[in-house]
Amino acid sequence: MKIPVKNIEETFEEIAGPEGVQVYRLLKNKEDVNEFNIAEKLKITINQLRNIIYKFEKYNLLTSIRKKDRKKGWYIYFFTLNPKQIDDTVVQLVRDKMSIIEKQLDREKAHQFYLCPNRCVRQTIENAMENQFMCHECGSLLDAENNDKTINKMQKRIEELNIKLKELSK
Ligand SMILES: [Zn+2]
Repeated sequence: MKIPVKNIEETFEEIAGPEGVQVYRLLKNKEDVNEFNIAEKLKITINQLRNIIYKFEKYNLLTSIRKKDRKKGWYIYFFTLNPKQIDDTVVQLVRDKMSIIEKQLDREKAHQFYLCPNRCVRQTIENAMENQFMCHECGSLLDAENNDKTINKMQKRIEELNIKLKELSK
């Protein structure tokens, strides 16, 4: 499995925003990178950098070691990316998205939905019946909704994610 850089950077962006991608690029193919060097290159504070690193750590995307600066007396962190875990995370995030949409799709298929003409509420038929098909926000009568388009969109999205997964596992 060789995950394309494009997908890896996409994942870092999802996890930690555009600055996350920049941090990734500075760490790539290096070992024990001094946090002060990264912060300086990106013109961000150490705290801003640590916030980004914290997001990486939630996914174990890197390891860190800490050394005491003898002169200044404070600790400096050194970071090394964890490539295997990065690859796994790229795939895992796609799977997570897919499973969320699959759940939503099941719900769309399992229920008839009712919609307020003013778009205040959207309810399953069971809930709409309890309120005599009246919108509890504006009092309008709810309309039965045709959710075929929503279902189609979700199915397309699942197909796209499936294709992506296949490409990633080549
Ligand atoms: Zn309403």
